[in-house]
Amino acid sequence: MLNIMTTIISCFLVTLLSFSTNLNAVNNSNNNNDNKNTKAMKFELMQLPYATNALEPVISQQTVELHHGKHLNTYVTNLNKLIEGTKFENADLITIVKESDGGIFNNAGQLLNHELYFNSFTTPGQGGNGPTGALAEAINSQYGSFENFKKEFNDAGAAVFGSGWVWLAKDANGKLSIEKEPNGGNPVTKGLTPILGFDVWEHAYYLDYQNRRADHLTEIWKIINWPVVSERY
Ligand code: MN
Repeated sequence: MLNIMTTIISCFLVTLLSFSTNLNAVNNSNNNNDNKNTKAMKFELMQLPYATNALEPVISQQTVELHHGKHLNTYVTNLNKLIEGTKFENADLITIVKESDGGIFNNAGQLLNHELYFNSFTTPGQGGNGPTGALAEAINSQYGSFENFKKEFNDAGAAVFGSGWVWLAKDANGKLSIEKEPNGGNPVTKGLTPILGFDVWEHAYYLDYQNRRADHLTEIWKIINWPVVSERY
């Protein structure tokens, strides 16, 4: 039994290592191209508004470093390469997400999604206990209570099949909705404004929670920066 477990863990680590090496290869090849081409990159990797260990124990330092420094960085470099010479070369990010498809949409969507995502967090205990102001009123009015809203949001996040996102969004009249999006989807493509999004790709939680996506969704409320999120409403 111990041998089987050791084999499984070894396979997992080898897969992780080779994945990480592939990402490095992509980054290195991009860096080489950058050196040949002195033109400034259009989109840049966002800076985190906290230290990489600030979200522990909800999200580990290792997950933040890989998620921001590798996954998000790859979306940024891919997008910059893909839009070169296209009609999106000088477009803003929201326009690209609304009007593109294929690889450009996937990478632009993920860039927008992760900028919203990483900016929604702060150290546990520092972000308040829940939404404030007009967002709090809208949640109470539409979902009965913040507790009930969280349950509906988590249920939607757990129900996303495969990789994707769960979003709280608002329409032009301020009506809230919970939107499940596959892959790099964002509610802006439906004419909605994103307020809060949880990443349910396995890269967001697998090192810390393994297969327990629902547990991750329960914990992540502890690190929401409510003043920032409430301001988006
Ligand atoms: Mn992600």
